Amino acid sequence: MNDCLFCKIAAGEIPSAKVYEDDKLLAFKDINPQAPVHILIIPKAHYESVNALDETSAPVVGDIMLAAKKIAAEQGLTNGYRLLTNIGEDGGQTVKHLHFHLIGGVKLSEKMV
Ligand code: AMP
Ligand code: ZN
Repeated sequence: MNDCLFCKIAAGEIPSAKVYEDDKLLAFKDINPQAPVHILIIPKAHYESVNALDETSAPVVGDIMLAAKKIAAEQGLTNGYRLLTNIGEDGGQTVKHLHFHLIGGVKLSEKMV
């Protein structure tokens, strides 16, 4: 956990382009944006992925959804956006700290899902 990039960002040890913060969550711009708006929303607490959640910790995903809605409105994404989380190797997860991608600002491809 000490070696976790997003824990370091949450702790302010590594800088990020912050767009939202509350007591449980942080949101910042993705360093390699895939769309005009590409923001990562993370819990400040470390969970490796959705697979690490249990009945006690799972409500953080609801918190992330509500934060996403707020951030999307602030970013002017009135015509929609996409929220996704990658899980594990086959899911394409590269940073092993739960995060949701908020992507928008353009008509996204319909191919993936
Ligand atoms: P995933 O592939 O779902 O694990 O997503 C990890 C995301 O983190 C990728 O979209 C990266 O571009 C992004 N990323 C990696 N390092 C940083 C960083 N220091 N600041 C912001 N985003 C980052
Ligand atoms: Zn972490």
